[in-house]
Amino acid sequence: MIKEAICVSICAETADEMKRRALEAAEVADLIELRLDCLNADELPNILASLSFPKPILITRRPVEQGGHWIATREKRIEFWKDMPRHITPDGIKCFFDIELDISSALHVHGDGFVISHHDFGGVPDAIDILFEEMNGGDSISKIAWKTDDITDTIPFVHLVEAARETNRWVAPIPMGECGKWTRILGPALGAKLTYSSFEAGGETAPGQVTAKDLRDVYRTNELDDDVDICGIIGGNTSYSMSPFMHNAAFMENRMNAVFVPLQMSDIGAFIERMVSPETREVAINFKGFSVTIPFKSEIIEFLDIIDPAAAAIGAVNTVKIENGKLVGYNTDAQGFIEPLAKKIANLRDMKVAVLGAGGAARACIQSLTSAGCRTTVFARDIAKAGALTEDFGVALRRLDKDSYGDFDIVVNTTPLGTKGAHQNESIADASQLSGVKLAYDLVYNPQDTKFLAEAKTAGCETLGGFEMLLAQAALQQKIWTGLDAPIDAMRKAALGRLG
Ligand code: NAP
Repeated sequence: MIKEAICVSICAETADEMKRRALEAAEVADLIELRLDCLNADELPNILASLSFPKPILITRRPVEQGGHWIATREKRIEFWKDMPRHITPDGIKCFFDIELDISSALHVHGDGFVISHHDFGGVPDAIDILFEEMNGGDSISKIAWKTDDITDTIPFVHLVEAARETNRWVAPIPMGECGKWTRILGPALGAKLTYSSFEAGGETAPGQVTAKDLRDVYRTNELDDDVDICGIIGGNTSYSMSPFMHNAAFMENRMNAVFVPLQMSDIGAFIERMVSPETREVAINFKGFSVTIPFKSEIIEFLDIIDPAAAAIGAVNTVKIENGKLVGYNTDAQGFIEPLAKKIANLRDMKVAVLGAGGAARACIQSLTSAGCRTTVFARDIAKAGALTEDFGVALRRLDKDSYGDFDIVVNTTPLGTKGAHQNESIADASQLSGVKLAYDLVYNPQDTKFLAEAKTAGCETLGGFEMLLAQAALQQKIWTGLDAPIDAMRKAALGRLG
């Protein structure tokens, strides 16, 4: 029996390409899955004739109705596997076969060497525990994959690994999609026999797969154990976050048995109730802390036991520490914002600052600017909406338009304009509007050289990008969770490695 393994799935149309990718993947995989259903039909004999790899292999031919590419009747599938010799690899190389549950009893397969699988693309399978019982086949691995719409759809993952541990069976539960990503990272540590990964970004054979290299190098999946402290980012879309790279680099540098994972969800209340709160949770997971991002920075507040007064004044929480089962909320955006600015301008007192945008990040900026003695004016496109914010902080409010900011010392962009993607080539202000401004500060950090900063440079302003704030707020989070000074150089290097 293979030990808990990172399995890399390889999908290619030709045998040569499949073999080439599989040999490359062998450097990071414990087990290489050859997805025969991806091959052009005439290529099948070519790959089966040359199964020589330095790592164990798993042979899969997934039919369309189970999420694969093979169009075949049930009879044809049974026939294919009946004709497949058990020992088709050269001496010494272990070969596993993935047989779908619907044909496994017809083939009488069970025991070591088999993965018995079932895929549900509609959601969590009904009576998943009974399904697991049906799959029980001695030393075979029961693989159950299902689509997730929310993080609470991963709860059955924890129950299945517990059930398997209690009964000495092997299971590989796979909650698919971004909401299930955390289980792909922590699967082996929590008792899953296999975690499926892609060899390269873009080469995923199922939604939510992480590359095998990231599983090893970023998340240390194969080094984690079930005592690991789990931190993660709570958000509506965690796929673009830099936080896993910065925080895992910090944990690694400080040699901590801790990991930071993406926790994408649509319903934060259900997550806290069913997966976090000691009184109500359905799973015993070692959550130690969270980063909180859009759209939950305000919503999280109602679920906290204690809130730091500064975070309460801002009305937004981006950091949670879990102490003795209690959720304590903080805001590190505010200090993270002001630290890099104070390095550029030592005395901010009486500086005239224009804050463009009136969302969650603006609240943290205004709190810091007000505390530093700045004279702040908020510019928003929706005056009625922004009124509550400016009243809370007692600062001026003006409509965002094409007027000059020449009367201001500092202009801060807190809108998402300029962010990689659809808005990358947009700027909230042009050079003529910024002329006469001392310093332009853009909270956007991806890309680092935004259109707003380019306009500011043309206008002759000093500039500050959002990357330093990103780093500073994350370093403060590390201190809150671990009590240790953050290894800032390692965190910087990890984030820059991703941002380029
Ligand atoms: P948010 O709560 O959604 O607020 C965005 C604000 O921008 C809202 O006031 C919104 O106005 C305004 N806005 C959006 N599109 C606009 C447009 N086309 N024209 C004018 N105003 C527009 O988001 P957030 O949490 O404050 O984040 C804002 C940005 O800051 C994001 O790019 C985020 O990545 C960045 N950020 C960076 C850091 C860092 O560490 N560097 C930390 C936090 C945030 P409406 O309310 O009218 O929609």
